[in-house]
Amino acid sequence: MSKHESISAVNMTGSAPRIRQIEGREWWLWGFAVAVTLILTFGILSLTFPGFHLPTDKIYVLTLREWVRALAALVLLFDIYTIYQNLQLQRVRRQLAERDRLFQLISENAADMIALVDRDGNRLYNSPAYSKVLGYSEAELRATSPVEQIHPDDRVRVLEAAEKARRTGRGERLEYRIRHRDGSWRVLESTASVILGSKGDNDGLVIVNRDITDRKRIEEMLAHNAFHDGLTNLPNRVLFLERVGRAIAVSRRHSKVKFAVLFVDIDSFKIFNDSLGHAAGDALLLQISQRLTACLRRADMVSRTQTDSMETATDSTLARPGGDEFAVLVEELRDPSDAVRVAERIQEKLAAPFEVANQQIVVTASIGIAFGGSKSCGAEDLLRDAEIAMYRAKHAGKDRCEVFDNAMHTGALRRLQLETDMRKALESGEFHVYYQPVVCLRSGQIVGFEALSRWQRSGGVVMPNDFIPVANETGMILSINRELLLLAGRQLRSWQAQYPSQPPLRLAVNVSPKQFAEPDLADQIGEVIRQSGMDPQCVDLEITETIAMADAERSGTVLTQLKALGVHLDIDDFGTGYSSLSRLQRFPVDTLKIDRAFVSKMDTDRDTHEIVRIIVTLAHNLGLKVVAEGIENKTQLKLLSKLGCELGQGYLFSKPVDSQTIEMLLATNRASASPWLQASAAHC
Ligand code: C2E
Ligand code: MG
Ligand code: MG
Repeated sequence: MSKHESISAVNMTGSAPRIRQIEGREWWLWGFAVAVTLILTFGILSLTFPGFHLPTDKIYVLTLREWVRALAALVLLFDIYTIYQNLQLQRVRRQLAERDRLFQLISENAADMIALVDRDGNRLYNSPAYSKVLGYSEAELRATSPVEQIHPDDRVRVLEAAEKARRTGRGERLEYRIRHRDGSWRVLESTASVILGSKGDNDGLVIVNRDITDRKRIEEMLAHNAFHDGLTNLPNRVLFLERVGRAIAVSRRHSKVKFAVLFVDIDSFKIFNDSLGHAAGDALLLQISQRLTACLRRADMVSRTQTDSMETATDSTLARPGGDEFAVLVEELRDPSDAVRVAERIQEKLAAPFEVANQQIVVTASIGIAFGGSKSCGAEDLLRDAEIAMYRAKHAGKDRCEVFDNAMHTGALRRLQLETDMRKALESGEFHVYYQPVVCLRSGQIVGFEALSRWQRSGGVVMPNDFIPVANETGMILSINRELLLLAGRQLRSWQAQYPSQPPLRLAVNVSPKQFAEPDLADQIGEVIRQSGMDPQCVDLEITETIAMADAERSGTVLTQLKALGVHLDIDDFGTGYSSLSRLQRFPVDTLKIDRAFVSKMDTDRDTHEIVRIIVTLAHNLGLKVVAEGIENKTQLKLLSKLGCELGQGYLFSKPVDSQTIEMLLATNRASASPWLQASAAHC
């Protein structure tokens, strides 16, 4: 029997027409037998009672012999038909028995649970799979009704589906929960088909149930993972946005319902992560998420007055959109100040130290708040606004909370545009190197240059202060500075060849905070210096005082690695930050660059002059050279020379200019005595 036939064999309702066809033929058989008997009776009567028939000449009267022949023919026909019919019946019965056996075999061995119920829903048959999957014995199943084990919440649905199957003759696929003997719930996928009676009426249902508990569990797990963060199990960005979307929809319908989105960012998390390792970083995030969850629990929300009832208590959703960021949707706000109080409470809760990897860690958070309610605002917009406000909080000094306003939005848009333009500019080579000469104050000789970036945009030149901070935050500064060092390095070599001097011309480049945080900064810079062909001895790396002094231990290591390249190290913008003298002494630094703020005032302000004097003395005591930045007039130059400051940079000598202009400058500077001063030549 083919697979197709065997499947149709178990289809009990499919054999009904065949049986009906044979039963129909049996009626013919009976009719035929009755006809033969009647004819026989009439024949015997006409022969035994000669007056029985009407004696008329027109009627043909059969003789006895004819009667017997006709009867014999009829009986023979009847016998042949009966035998044929009997053979047919036997064949069909054999087929039915075979189908019964197959059905039995399939239902007994099928992993699916097959059940037959009668018209009233009573059990007629349950395949052995029932016992295997649900743990009940046959006797237990017989003693209970099929609906008893169905989950109360699903019962009505199942009964309705069964009723519909009976009415329409077609069952629909259905999922429902059924109790295992051990009390747990299993999920079944079920399809019911109607068993048709001999008259084509409904005799009951055959139900095929499949245990899909494991599949369901996996499906649920996948669905959960798609909407939750793997580490903290909190809703992820997608689910959070969906909830915010719902809150927006509600507030559109009921304008009184207010809500807010809080964007919480852990301050300096990267430092914890880098110093303690990622596993400890994860553990810290997990603890933070647990603390936030506890802090945002409904009953525990927002400090409330005695008169506040639980009905007005704020509801909230905590999510982790990514990294060290958490987002909170605070719903049912009475007043915007509630959201600020939630933020303060979060900060308060985070203030207590965390214990991670046997260390006490204190974290702070910057929080941005955006309020829902504006008509055009979508979920993404709100989250973005809260994030912008959070950045504002960070820039304002961290560990604080800021409420989003429209000025921030405009600022953020401008900044976004700048970022996009900068990426394009980087690709199309719009960043150029400008050089500002560094001059020996005694001889007036150009001894080197500081390389400074300029962005040559279609609208004009953009100055570093307008794009370097953004480039630093986005990381674009790494590419900008790499290019700058390579180009300026090659340029320096050509100038050194054109204008040989002893010592040779030098090149100073600025190191940004982003670069300073790179773990392999020394390797990166070393590689570019090598590619440019410069002698590392001629390179000054300028690190601002603020960066160098921020993390003493790390700075010490990085500066030592850089120094090992053979370059000189300069502390840039000296005087603007806080320098520890002992650190300055320990660090392998060569030069201090006095910030322009002091130089520009030293000729008019006695105190500033004094500060500059102290810086120069201090530098010399530490064995460091001094470069004065921002020298704009001859008075400043004279004062600095008197104080013994050996090098200077400023508009008095030259503004930062392109390489062609520098070439002209170098030519005149080398050809004649200093155009800037008449001081006698001395070695710088
Ligand atoms: P900086 O390293 O302290 O550079 C000196 C700044 O002072 C330059 O500004 C220069 O034009 C300006 N300056 C020099 N002499 C005078 C003067 O006499 N008067 C006035 N008013 N200004 C003077 P610039 O080029 O606008 O650069 C500003 C800052 O941007 C630089 O300060 C530096 O920290 C940063 N920077 C510039 N280019 C780059 C770069 O390629 N990479 C990095 N990481 N930072 C850069
Ligand atoms: Mg500099
Ligand atoms: Mg400077």
